[in-house]
Amino acid sequence: MIKRWFKPGDLLLIAMVVVPVLLIFPSLMQENWQQPSGFFRGLARLAGVIGLSLMLQAAMMSIRLPHLDRLFGGLPRLWTQHRLVGFLGFMLVLFHAWGLSFSVITRGLEPAMMVLFPPLSYWPVWMGWLALAFMVSFLGPTFRFFGRLDYQKWKRLHILSAPATLAALAHTIPLATNPWIWWLLGALAIGAIVWRKVLSPSLGRFEYEVVDVNTLLRGVVEISLKPRGKAMQYEAGQFIYLTPFDESLSNGVGEEHPYTISSAPGDEYLKVSIKDLGDASHAIQTIKNGSRVQVEGAYGDFYERHYPQKKQLWFGGGIGITPFVSGARDMAYKEQAADPAHLFYLANDDYRTYFLDELKEIAEKQPAFDLTLHLFREQGPITVAFLQEHCPDYRDREIYMCGPPPMVNHLKALLIRAGVPASAIHFEVFDFL
Ligand SMILES: Cc1cc2nc3c(=O)[nH]c(=O)nc-3n(C[C@H](O)[C@H](O)[C@H](O)COP(=O)(O)OP(=O)(O)OC[C@H]3O[C@@H](n4cnc5c(N)ncnc54)[C@H](O)[C@@H]3O)c2cc1C
Repeated sequence: MIKRWFKPGDLLLIAMVVVPVLLIFPSLMQENWQQPSGFFRGLARLAGVIGLSLMLQAAMMSIRLPHLDRLFGGLPRLWTQHRLVGFLGFMLVLFHAWGLSFSVITRGLEPAMMVLFPPLSYWPVWMGWLALAFMVSFLGPTFRFFGRLDYQKWKRLHILSAPATLAALAHTIPLATNPWIWWLLGALAIGAIVWRKVLSPSLGRFEYEVVDVNTLLRGVVEISLKPRGKAMQYEAGQFIYLTPFDESLSNGVGEEHPYTISSAPGDEYLKVSIKDLGDASHAIQTIKNGSRVQVEGAYGDFYERHYPQKKQLWFGGGIGITPFVSGARDMAYKEQAADPAHLFYLANDDYRTYFLDELKEIAEKQPAFDLTLHLFREQGPITVAFLQEHCPDYRDREIYMCGPPPMVNHLKALLIRAGVPASAIHFEVFDFL
């Protein structure tokens, strides 16, 4: 059970908070905790230490190294942690500034202001303010106060995390009792940002070429890609960042977007299926054969194949069918697939299905793969009775789902009510923000 919720990488993240706290512990013990001033000062210092280590962790988590993400349960989980840890860190850093001034407020407003705004010669404190100003600039819009931010603008704003990290380190290192820990964590955080923003576009990507664009439905294409050099290794259910360079595209040229791989590792071409969901995904529907793309990955740990010998139950709807197409294609290669899987393909009606004929063909040939189609317009929301009829042992399977949020939410509630443990349910979201 613990293995399902905690991933090996989490231990590293916990250590990155615990070690700085242990290092500052002796000096914290010297605060006069009985007095309100000592109490608030101690808490504020503790908050500063934990806040900075969380902020540095959030920066490290942005590194996006293939394989490394699997230590943390895959990139989508790492991104969720990145957001949570970044938010907590930011709150603690705010508390740090407030707590330090509050600790002297009993002596009057002037001392409190002096703690916050000392003479300029106390430059480490001003570095702290600079770090906070950068943080507010790039984290503020994430709170959606001004509405939903365009993803590309949000990403550009995030570059301010680099000067924020440098300023935070310049604030902390001269004041720290054990500066080496901040040198170490700071180097890892800055290294991660440099890799992601500077090095990975040239060193971490594979060169591919579009060799086929197959329209599956209006607004949905499957694009086949052939490596121009070394091919990327991947597993079924993983995803990539795709950057097109076809100058004739009306949008998204040179922009990276995440797409799930729909081909199987044994296929000749790497394939992704893209639904028109916005500017870039609309434009890419007309990408030209022969044009160059860059591929970064593969990322994700969707099938969590660390629970072998367990039957699987897959639910795919809309463009969320892609990881299961990859999984089914992969099974088609195998004489006897290790983990039998039953796919429930959830669609509104017959006209909105894609890959269905191919999936039916695989189901006919591969005894370990079963397929059931559920049509919402004809049959209404999927029910326990429907699951029971088509897959009687559904409660004992490892469950994977990918599709529109209402579908995923409905299924999760249904399965949990039917007695399936939450830890056996895995789902992929197609939205990082
Ligand atoms: C792990 C994962 C796998 C995905 N797999 C597929 C797939 O197989 N097929 C498919 O059609 N779509 C997939 N998507 C969704 C796809 O990435 C978005 O539809 C696409 O990025 C939208 O960009 P846009 O400019 O067309 O639309 P926009 O209008 O800019 O954005 C539409 C939505 O996509 C999000 N988005 C935009 N750009 C990015 C980005 N670079 N990274 C993360 N989110 C972004 C936005 O937050 C917004 O919610 C996947 C997303 C994720 C996170």
